[in-house]
Amino acid sequence: MDVFERTEKFVMKTYNRYPVCFVRGEGCWLYDKDGKKYLDMLAGIAVCNLGHAHPAISQAICEQAKELLHVSNLFHIETQAELAELICKNSFGEKVFFCNSGAEANEGAIKLARRYGTEINPEKYEIVAFRQSFHGRTMAAVTVTGQGKYSEGFGPMLPGVKFATFNDIDSVLSVVSDRTAGIIVEPIQGEGGVVPADEEFLRALREIADRFNALLIFDEVQTGIGRTGKLFAYQHYGVEPDVMTLAKALGNGVPIGAIVAKGKAAEVLKPGLHASTFGGNPLATRVGIVVMKEMTKPGFLEEVEEKGNYLKELLEGLVKEFPQLLESVRGKGLMLGLVCKRECKDIVKSALDKGLIINCTAGNVLRFVPPLVISREEIETGIGILREVLESYAG
Ligand SMILES: *Cc1c(COP(=O)(O)O)cnc(C)c1O
Repeated sequence: MDVFERTEKFVMKTYNRYPVCFVRGEGCWLYDKDGKKYLDMLAGIAVCNLGHAHPAISQAICEQAKELLHVSNLFHIETQAELAELICKNSFGEKVFFCNSGAEANEGAIKLARRYGTEINPEKYEIVAFRQSFHGRTMAAVTVTGQGKYSEGFGPMLPGVKFATFNDIDSVLSVVSDRTAGIIVEPIQGEGGVVPADEEFLRALREIADRFNALLIFDEVQTGIGRTGKLFAYQHYGVEPDVMTLAKALGNGVPIGAIVAKGKAAEVLKPGLHASTFGGNPLATRVGIVVMKEMTKPGFLEEVEEKGNYLKELLEGLVKEFPQLLESVRGKGLMLGLVCKRECKDIVKSALDKGLIINCTAGNVLRFVPPLVISREEIETGIGILREVLESYAG
C-alpha cells in the first residue's frame, strides 16, 4: 500500500487531499517523493513563517529533545516563562497562557471573557462575533465562527453568541449590550477571504467594548507573528485589544497556542480555572523563543512589508492582464488575497501541477501566505507560474 491508499483506508476522511506527499522542505521549497520541487506560497497555511527546515529552529528542536521534552505545569518551566516575557515585551500583553492550537486559544479566550463577565453579573456571558469569521473547530470556537457550513449538524451550539457584520459598526451596536462579556474579531478575516478590518471599525469596537465593559478579543492566530509586516496585526491599527489569541506561526510547525491579555483580563484565570497538559511545554516554548527572536531581528519585519508590497504589485499586474478572470487584491504584508471573478479551486489545482502551492478561500479568493523568508526572485517565480496557469484559463 502506498501513502495514498493507506490514508484512504486508515485516516478519517475529514480532508479532501491533493494526491501529493511532501517528504522534505527547505526555505520556501517543498519536495515530493518523486523529487518534484514546489514553491510553497502557503506555508502550511500561515504556519511555517520562517520557512521549512530553518537551521535555528531545527537546532533548537534537536537540543531540547536531548534535554527535556515535557514536564507538568505543576512545576516552573524556564522556556515557558521566557517566551511569555518575549511576547509581552513585544506586544500590549501583560500575561500569557499557553495551549496547543488556535481553536484551543480561542476556546480559552471565550472562557476567560465569560468568567470576566459573570463575575460582574451572572447574566453577562454573551459573546459578539462576526459573519464570515473563522475561529477553529472545537465547540465554542465553531460557535463563534460565522459561517454556517462549519457548525451544520453539530448543534445545539453554545448559547449566548450574537453575530454582527464585519466592518459594520451599526450591526455591532444592534447586538451589543450590558450582557456582552466579549467581542471576538480577526483583524484580517483569513478563511473568510482575506478581508482586512477598517481602521474606524476596530477603533469603534474598542470604544464599544469599553462602553459596555466587555473584553475585546483579537484572534491573531493567522495574522500574528510577522505575517502582515508587523509582529501582530493590531499594531497596524493603533487599537489594542484586551485579549489576543495566537497559534499557527508561533511554533513554525511545532504545535503551540497562546492567550495574551492585559489589565483586568490578565488576572481573570486563577489557579484551577483553566489548564492544558501540553500547554507551554519545554519543546514548544523553546521553539517559540527562536521564532520570536528571528522575527524581532532588526529589519526583518520591514523586509516582510516590502516583499508584501512587491507581491501585491505583481498580483495587481495580473489583475490588469486578466480582467476577465481577476477582480482585485487585498490584505496586508504577506497575507494577500487575489479575488477572482469565479470559483478558483481549479486554478489552485493547476498551479500545484505546475509546482506552485497556494490555496483557495471563501470560494473565489486565491490566498498567498508564503514563508516570510521568501525572496523577491521566488516571488517572481511564483507569479510566473501563476501567469502560465491564468493564460491557460483565459483562453
Ligand atoms: C487557523 C485559525 C484558527 C484555528 O486554529 P487551529 O490551530 O486549526 O485550531 C483560528 N482562528 C484563525 C483566525 C485561524 O486562521
